[in-house]
Amino acid sequence: MSHSDTQAAETFYSHPFDDDKLREECGVFGVVGTSDAANFVALGLHALQHRGQEAGGIVAHAPGVGFNSARRFGYVRDNFTKASLMETLPGPLAIGHVRYSTAGSKGNTAIRDVQPFFGEFSMGGAAIAHNGNITNADALRKELIERGSIFQSSSDSECIIHLMARSLQQSIPERMKDALRRCEGAFSVVAMTRTKLIGVRDPLGVRPLVLGKIGDNAWVLSSETCGLDIIGAEFVREIKAGEMVVITEADGVTSYFPFEQKAARFCIFEHVYFSRPDSIIGGQSVYETRRQIGVELARETPVEADLVCPVPDSGTPAAIGYSQESGIPYAMGIIRNQYMGRTFIEPTEQIRNMGVRLKLNVNRALIKGKRVILVDDSVVRGTTSRKIKEMILDAGAAEVHFRIASPPTAWPCFYGVDTPEREKLLAATMSEDEMRGHLGVDSLKFISLDGLYRAVGVAEGRTPGGKRYCDACFSGEYPVAPSDMLDKGFELKTAAE
Ligand code: SF4
Repeated sequence: MSHSDTQAAETFYSHPFDDDKLREECGVFGVVGTSDAANFVALGLHALQHRGQEAGGIVAHAPGVGFNSARRFGYVRDNFTKASLMETLPGPLAIGHVRYSTAGSKGNTAIRDVQPFFGEFSMGGAAIAHNGNITNADALRKELIERGSIFQSSSDSECIIHLMARSLQQSIPERMKDALRRCEGAFSVVAMTRTKLIGVRDPLGVRPLVLGKIGDNAWVLSSETCGLDIIGAEFVREIKAGEMVVITEADGVTSYFPFEQKAARFCIFEHVYFSRPDSIIGGQSVYETRRQIGVELARETPVEADLVCPVPDSGTPAAIGYSQESGIPYAMGIIRNQYMGRTFIEPTEQIRNMGVRLKLNVNRALIKGKRVILVDDSVVRGTTSRKIKEMILDAGAAEVHFRIASPPTAWPCFYGVDTPEREKLLAATMSEDEMRGHLGVDSLKFISLDGLYRAVGVAEGRTPGGKRYCDACFSGEYPVAPSDMLDKGFELKTAAE
């Protein structure tokens, strides 16, 4: 395989103002059957950029040319738009990945950790891009190293390649099945051989993956439907929990179910925050679900006020729903600077101290003397919420009421989302009233887990026998035991909690 990879390790600084959100770790995308698949992949990754801004990579294959790859730090638009780079990625088959590091070298990514990963097997090469987190990766890595595997990266996803190398199966899809049966946790995988595009979701379907089509013979796999829209692909269906699809230009889609069948447990936080509002999940518009969360929130947590304002941008649909249900006028009380990008890539101390003011500003004329309801998607550490409250009070608000479109985030996610350690989650150490005092607001209320389930379409709420999601970061009930973390001393919820 020829590489046009930048091999030097670089440090990218996370936004000093965005460290108070849970962050999706990755987005994956793949295309087979178009003459310039890598260009489609670049556009798809651009649409999935919200799922990872630190780095991106594309692998393409062309008959007679072979595999080529490019991996870069930074935004897709700054790298994979250059003709000089895209010309190095010819062919009708390509996959790609955007990354925000969690597993792997956190905050100090080396280019070797940027996916897709590539492996050369006796039956040909294969590249893999992975969204999620393999919860037994430490144990697998130890076992593989003891048996002679030489790892190139610190990423959990590389275990899949090494497990495939050790499989005795005769085809790459069969080796991949073997490998993934050893993996626990959450994975949506997009992979490719010389002729096949492959998509897999873990047995619980924790992370999303959808199938699309362009014309008669070209197929697309994407983390979200917004990745299909940008290239004019038609949405076909979601890849099912525990399903593997093997796609070729000639034969179309063949479906397998290589894992023991289980009830799906899709990540409920995709509805709340991670996915783009213009994506469709489970037949539902993400925007509409978030608006409905606001409706439920207004029913559960009414308060007298003059204005409902979103914390932009992620709080906006829920604030609209809250306003519609409560009858309290909606207003843009906080304005977001859309052009922050990575302007301050190495912020000075003085700029760091400006914090959230660099990104958000209060619409003073609107706020002065008003009782304001602020709707945000979540409270993680609480640092940003405190600063926003200060800004609103500085602008002369009479009262500040926080309404949060998710239940208290009291547990870390081990399934491919960057979460602080449990002690740093505000809701892990404080009651709701203590959090209200800590944030210094007149009131603070969260949607209940039942209310969230109703908003995502489970009319009966969160019943044990009903349709279930993963909600571990709220409930502490992990659908897959995080075995590596348990080995490191992480304690699961006790009966008393
Ligand atoms: S723990 Fe939370 S963020 Fe992680 S997969 Fe489950 S619901 Fe999603």
